Amino acid sequence: MVNHSCTSDACTFLVCPCGSNQALNFGAKKKLLVCTDGSCPHSKLGNEFPIINGTPILIPDLKCDTAFTRGNTRSYVSRATHDLPSFMLKIRQWLMGDITTRENVDHFRRLFDCENKIRILVIGGGTVGVGLDLLIKDLDCEIVVVDVYASDAVDYVCDSHYLPFKDSSFDAVWIQAVLEHVIDPKMVVAQIARVLKPKGAVYAETPFMQPVHEGAYDYTRFTVLGHRYLFRDFRAVKFGANRGADIALAWSLKYFMTALLRSKNIGRACFYLAIIFLLPVRPLLSRWISADSASGVFFVGVKTESRLTHRELPKLYRIK
Ligand SMILES: [Zn+2]
Repeated sequence: MVNHSCTSDACTFLVCPCGSNQALNFGAKKKLLVCTDGSCPHSKLGNEFPIINGTPILIPDLKCDTAFTRGNTRSYVSRATHDLPSFMLKIRQWLMGDITTRENVDHFRRLFDCENKIRILVIGGGTVGVGLDLLIKDLDCEIVVVDVYASDAVDYVCDSHYLPFKDSSFDAVWIQAVLEHVIDPKMVVAQIARVLKPKGAVYAETPFMQPVHEGAYDYTRFTVLGHRYLFRDFRAVKFGANRGADIALAWSLKYFMTALLRSKNIGRACFYLAIIFLLPVRPLLSRWISADSASGVFFVGVKTESRLTHRELPKLYRIK
């Protein structure tokens, strides 16, 4: 999946994330990248972007307001869930239900022509999660993965508020369980629109009724309509709720028990017990009411010239 084409001279779409839209040149021994805009601090000796184990660290911390630094590329957040063995992840996936994500991946893949050598950007793909594995399965195209920490899956470490890519570089963008962790989601979505080609596709999945996770790097939640409006410059193909009130209740119980007994392990056990207990009840839940307290929300859409208006937004409530 990982494509490191931009660490070679052949790179055509990488630019400095400082906002100058200027190309990057290699520095000493190809272990550094330097901005070609002389007024950018990252063009100066000693301020270059490092390349660590083949992965460029493109955090413009000298020019832009960012929570990250070029010098610290280890994991900024705990990845406890993703450290589970794969069979446990599969059981977890089955218990929590992933039907919506599967359907959404199908909708998303229909928005671009896989025969046409397209390029997809995955934001926050440091760990291949539920959904992304379905997307990349049997997909023959160029996939570029970015995250705020380095991993085997990551092509570029960057802050998604400052994507290091030229305008109109991608045919599609995938952003799953990321927008709650960015400080300014509107700014990140504007970056997504910028790097997408006209009529480029986006898939976003974001928590709604989930407590804070990943500590100091968790900032925002969205209702279905709030999330739809975040992508106001996109035509919606499909949007809605992902996982219903039963999962939201299990999240609440987990944090209630953790707060009461000060034990994350007991909280986690209560979470799974609640899901198992509620599993038979899931088909009985009202779809609409469950959506109003869903665990997450999603959006599948296409970049467009016309903007969704305030007048139109409330009319979209409970429209499939
Ligand atoms: Zn620059």
